[in-house]
Amino acid sequence: MSGLSAEAGERKLLGAYDLHVHTNMSDGDLALEEVVAIAAERGVTLGISDHMSTRNPARMVATEAQLRRYLEAVSAAPVFLAGEFCWCDSFPTHMPAELLDQLDYRIGSNHGFALPDGTMGSPWWDTLPAPWTDRAQEVMEHMVANLCDLVRDMPVDIIAHSTFMPAAFLTTDPDPDVWWTEEREDRYVEALASSTVALEISNRYRLPHDRVLRKAKQAGVRFSLGSDGHTREQVAQLGWAVETATRIGITDADLFVPEQRR
Ligand SMILES: [Zn+2]
Ligand SMILES: [Zn+2]
Repeated sequence: MSGLSAEAGERKLLGAYDLHVHTNMSDGDLALEEVVAIAAERGVTLGISDHMSTRNPARMVATEAQLRRYLEAVSAAPVFLAGEFCWCDSFPTHMPAELLDQLDYRIGSNHGFALPDGTMGSPWWDTLPAPWTDRAQEVMEHMVANLCDLVRDMPVDIIAHSTFMPAAFLTTDPDPDVWWTEEREDRYVEALASSTVALEISNRYRLPHDRVLRKAKQAGVRFSLGSDGHTREQVAQLGWAVETATRIGITDADLFVPEQRR
């Protein structure tokens, strides 16, 4: 026990924990030791949350052997041990439960969402493919439904960068309120509130927007701050996230705080 949890009672939590960080064990630029050193300089406690997914085996923890190596390496470092799982991938269902149970917490991410024609939509779409080309509002509707299903059904503690939208939407209409309508926000916040999943404030993507955060705070949803750092510049940087949380009135009591299991 390195005392990560014991420290929690003695200092302010908001801004002290970066719970979404990548290393070169998935698609990050830096080795675990480098990430740990940067966070120490910046006075931030890390949760290492590399990608665990079969979607890109070369750049993600994709096999049981890789998962075992990852657990061994990260558990030896003074950090929380976590993983980022794709909503659109079945990796955890193929892994022994006793390995996944070693994680201090799990992040779930909408890196792809189910569409009713059996294909996957992508939050990173610059243009919408056929047959969705002129049906952006329908795609948004399916994306929001997937987010609600994710927080209800996926065994995770945090949902990352969840309100991120395809650039294709904003090319159609740059007003974000046309996409994240109040009704959709309310539906998503209700799903979050009836779950135990914390809503990530992403320093990298500068999300979610204030209105949905205010509704989530009002509904008693918990929050988590993450850099989603992949580079030296990003890791343990939480300035925007702290500023945003403070503006919304989010305090230590509203935060998801992991417990170290080992
Ligand atoms: Zn992600
Ligand atoms: Zn990430």
